[in-house]
Amino acid sequence: MSEFKVRDDWMAFCLPDISEAEIEAITAAVRSGWWAKGPRTIEFEKKFAEYVGAKHCVAVNSCTAALHLALLTAGVGPGDEVITTPLTFASTANSILHTGATPVFADIDMDTGLIDPKEIEKKITSRTKAVVPVHYSGLACDLGAIHRICDEHNLFLSEDAAHAVETRYKGELIGHHPRNTVSYSFYATKNLACGEGGALVTDDDEIAERARTLSCHGMNSRAWNRYGKGGSWRYDIAEIGYKYNMFDIQAALALTQLSRMDDMQARRLACVDIYQQAFADVPELILQKTPEYCHHSRHLYVLRVNEERLTISRDQFIEELKERNVGVSVHFIAVHTMSAYVNRFGYKPEDFPKAYAFSESEISLPMYSTLGTDKAQYVADAVLDVVKKYRR
Ligand SMILES: *Cc1c(COP(=O)(O)O)cnc(C)c1O
Repeated sequence: MSEFKVRDDWMAFCLPDISEAEIEAITAAVRSGWWAKGPRTIEFEKKFAEYVGAKHCVAVNSCTAALHLALLTAGVGPGDEVITTPLTFASTANSILHTGATPVFADIDMDTGLIDPKEIEKKITSRTKAVVPVHYSGLACDLGAIHRICDEHNLFLSEDAAHAVETRYKGELIGHHPRNTVSYSFYATKNLACGEGGALVTDDDEIAERARTLSCHGMNSRAWNRYGKGGSWRYDIAEIGYKYNMFDIQAALALTQLSRMDDMQARRLACVDIYQQAFADVPELILQKTPEYCHHSRHLYVLRVNEERLTISRDQFIEELKERNVGVSVHFIAVHTMSAYVNRFGYKPEDFPKAYAFSESEISLPMYSTLGTDKAQYVADAVLDVVKKYRR
């Protein structure tokens, strides 16, 4: 490899993919005068349900909201336990606490970062009501094993698909005929982004109706149209709900991004190829494995540093990349090490040794549709330059 030269400008870890289509769609939504939940949100629900192949989609203002609603529709509440992974964004576990239930962590598989079904089984008690696995980074969890566990113990399955819009399990999108619910995030950094947003998909009519009602104060479901000519001023609050619905300016963005999904994914995959080739035979780096059954959506490009073969720590590795003008991130700082969880549950890092070890050695490299293969090659060269400088 020729001498590495540091580029002049900073490379962001993540950027949104903005085309003229997004700008036109938002402008049209603003001009339409329908700023709250309206026809565009309804259209997005229809198109997203069609895209994933589920019967219903309830569009909401975050994945956190979708995860919360999912558990509420299952009747999860105080006294119940819900099993999830510590290698996730806090929101997954927070949404369990929002119901009054207790999150119970099950450790991960080191090759993938996914929750380990054998660990789920070990954590089941008479109080366990639900499982919330995370399709980490865009890999699919071992859904076959998880379905068997949920069937055997009669548990509700609420999948966290924040990273996984395009993820396939055995050839089918993971939201295709969900066992119970699958929740997506359209947060600014996610593969399909609309700033803030989310969706719950399900094949179950009752879950969909209840989630829809709870997402808008507990109003009966057609109340969004109460100011239209065909609507009625009369509405009822059927139960105490939340303010979680998506609105039309968000939906305008989400619809546009949905129509560009395949193209955006293809451009990310081209960058993945560059990383995979560059790091194929580098023992200082540990690559994430993709299970046979799975198509990886590549929301994140996950790498682990092999500290035994390097003279620097993961944290120093990140600093070295920063000096080379490359922005990276860590997914995730394990939830059980967060102060609020330590204070409340008394966790020690080693309580979930694999999630902790993974979290302490992981680096997420830039991975987004506007990155481009030239910049991906630069990132790969920067990583290899750090390895070369600090290998034992
Ligand atoms: C981003 C994220 C969420 C939360 O999504 P929001 O739409 O921001 O609420 C949940 N789980 C995981 C794994 C995430 O990465």
